[in-house]
Amino acid sequence: MTRRLLGALLLIVLGARWPGSATSALRASAPRESRPYLPELRTLSAATLTAQSVGSPLPPWQAGTLDIHVINTGRGDAALLILPDGTTMQFDAGDGGAPVGSPRGVPVVPDGTRRPGEWIARYASRVMSHYRTPGIDYAVLSHLHDDHFGALPELARHVPIRTMLDRAWPEYGDVSGGGTFPATDAYVAFARAEPSRMVRFEPGRTDQIRLLREPGAYPDFVVRNLFANGQVWTGAGQATRSRFPENAAALPADDRPNENESSAGIRVSYGAFDFYTGGDIPGRPRPGVADWHDIETPVAQVVGAVEVAAANHHGNRDSTNAFFVSTLQPRLWILQVWSSDHPGHDVLDRMLSKRLYPGDRDVLATDISPANRIVIGPLLDRLISARGHIVIRVERGGGTYRAIVLEDMDESMNIKAVFGPYQSR
Ligand SMILES: [Zn+2]
Repeated sequence: MTRRLLGALLLIVLGARWPGSATSALRASAPRESRPYLPELRTLSAATLTAQSVGSPLPPWQAGTLDIHVINTGRGDAALLILPDGTTMQFDAGDGGAPVGSPRGVPVVPDGTRRPGEWIARYASRVMSHYRTPGIDYAVLSHLHDDHFGALPELARHVPIRTMLDRAWPEYGDVSGGGTFPATDAYVAFARAEPSRMVRFEPGRTDQIRLLREPGAYPDFVVRNLFANGQVWTGAGQATRSRFPENAAALPADDRPNENESSAGIRVSYGAFDFYTGGDIPGRPRPGVADWHDIETPVAQVVGAVEVAAANHHGNRDSTNAFFVSTLQPRLWILQVWSSDHPGHDVLDRMLSKRLYPGDRDVLATDISPANRIVIGPLLDRLISARGHIVIRVERGGGTYRAIVLEDMDESMNIKAVFGPYQSR
């Protein structure tokens, strides 16, 4: 074993302590407390540290790396980010969508023996296997729909969530402007049960989600809160402006800002690498409504080009407008799918259109429903992956990254495919 490798191993062990933990370097090697979802810390071999080869398990996160895990449960969005210093962030954890077994849905994975929140917790614990105590430093909820929050209470029961940000705290009175979802009450109860960890997500800011362990070590890493409740960052300082009209509350119920339009979104930047994710904001609102219902256009104006974008609203037909596509120009598109609406045929056309932006791009989906396969047909063959967990692994400094697809039918973490390396622009 080389000295460099030993150093890397030491960094992983030392760098994996929670902030404020009294664990010393010596005690890190002492016997560990029992962790319900975890095997004991493995002895990492050179092979597990470096190999990202098909058929073998995903190598562990290493200090300096940014990992974006898009976790497929078949029941909604769920992304877990491990930031370069080991700070962890969950962005949405859904348990909703089409009724289980509906031909409009996709299969629940790995299977229906556990709720999605527990599957996500088990996944989180596996990728935090080098932490002394697995925990989620930040959870961000894009908006109050069950395919985004439904799994959060269950997830928090198994893996502690230290800070929870959402767009509405502490007022959940008039969240939807029409239409409520049955599980909303469950989330509100979850939030109010532990008010000390709740924070209202404020667009424009870069200090609500921060590196907690070694902030000084990664000065070119930043999480920008882009928008929420129709307030969109302007690109200058922390200033925002409202996309919603001042008289919104006085509009007929059907014309008021709705829950999707009120979503929160972020941009994660690491050197030249940028990742965008923004809940369910629309960019092609239903016919006849005012232009301000298009949230994607002002968002695209401040986000600019990114390396990787999670498609808004799961790639639903009201999202991913031409301006958004031609402005973000992602090298990789990620589709978080739970319905036969995901993606819309036209949406996929726009994502793939070289008239909207030149150059190569790849599209990965967590799944594609059999119904949508029939409707869209051969265009879906252009996806480089149509099933599995998707891991974007960004190397130290953000200059290069890979897309790694993991088996989602079991908990092996086995790699199904590796794409890249891609170069950040
Ligand atoms: Zn959704």
